Amino acid sequence: MIPAAFEYVAPDSVEAALQALAEHGDEAKIIAGGQSLLPVLRMRLNAPEWVIDLGRIPSLRGVRDAGDHLVVGAMTTHADVGDDPLVHEHALLVTKAITHLADAQVRHRGTFGGALAHADPAGDLGAPVRALGATFVVQGPGGTREVPADDFFVDLFETAISEDEILTEIHLPKHTGWGAAYEKFVRVAHQWPIVAVAATVRLDGDTIAEARVGLTNMGPTPLRAAAVEQALAGQPATEAAIAAAAEHAAEGTQPPSDLNGDADYRRHLATVLTRRAVLAAAGRNGGPAL
Ligand SMILES: Cc1cc2nc3c(=O)[nH]c(=O)nc-3n(C[C@H](O)[C@H](O)[C@H](O)COP(=O)(O)OP(=O)(O)OC[C@H]3O[C@@H](n4cnc5c(N)ncnc54)[C@H](O)[C@@H]3O)c2cc1C
Repeated sequence: MIPAAFEYVAPDSVEAALQALAEHGDEAKIIAGGQSLLPVLRMRLNAPEWVIDLGRIPSLRGVRDAGDHLVVGAMTTHADVGDDPLVHEHALLVTKAITHLADAQVRHRGTFGGALAHADPAGDLGAPVRALGATFVVQGPGGTREVPADDFFVDLFETAISEDEILTEIHLPKHTGWGAAYEKFVRVAHQWPIVAVAATVRLDGDTIAEARVGLTNMGPTPLRAAAVEQALAGQPATEAAIAAAAEHAAEGTQPPSDLNGDADYRRHLATVLTRRAVLAAAGRNGGPAL
């Protein structure tokens, strides 16, 4: 279907984009890479009168080192984040997740911030970003505020970004030297995950000193598998210890039931994928963790 007619504006600064957003209110919609918004417009699930394109704001693109964290501009494409050496060195979990995200075409158009603002519970970036303890920088008429990852995802397709605000940056705390793996279960290649697990671990010799585990599509928002993280801390990085900890993966989750699988199937998948992801992140699956 062809989208309903709309007016289009492409400001060259965040301030001008916020001004346009303030002028047109709920008649306006921001477009980033368009990989989720355009299908919505084409299906006429939404028909904004104004579309505000962030694509001509250079300050929203790129990755930079800010000491203890990396700053990822909201308009940086998945491909650019995935290829970035700083991200590979300090937030390997994100690099790993992006290799599983859609196909090359979508990765070259879709943006890091757009995907997180869209907040699809099956999106591949929410769980890794939550597991890493990211901070979201949001700019509005009243200035800039920072939202911790635990508060950013509010509900299905709903985030802490207000209608008059723009997501400008995502801050990724450095996890230098941590092993990482993203295990995604799909029926055919390039699909959205039925369930996926993001795991990153810091080893101290043969012991798991710390682990961070995120779950994709196990509830209306990306989740932290806190019980798994607690069970792993201080344990030997052995198959038996990791398998025992992974048994906690579905605790506190609310997986959906749909044509791809019911909730019990997803709980089972979460356990299996958590075991695989932690084993791989700890370098215990026969392959290199880094
Ligand atoms: C065929 C196909 C397969 C895909 N497969 C996957 C997959 O396997 N895994 C996966 O994770 N994703 C997948 N995607 C989605 C992809 O990751 C998109 O890039 C992402 O969902 C949206 O990013 P975007 O930059 O295109 O945002 P857009 O589509 O432009 O915007 C999405 C929403 O976010 C809002 N928004 C965007 N940027 C901002 C901002 N800076 N501040 C405030 N609001 C903002 C928009 O108003 C809109 O509501 C797929 C997409 C397609 C088309």
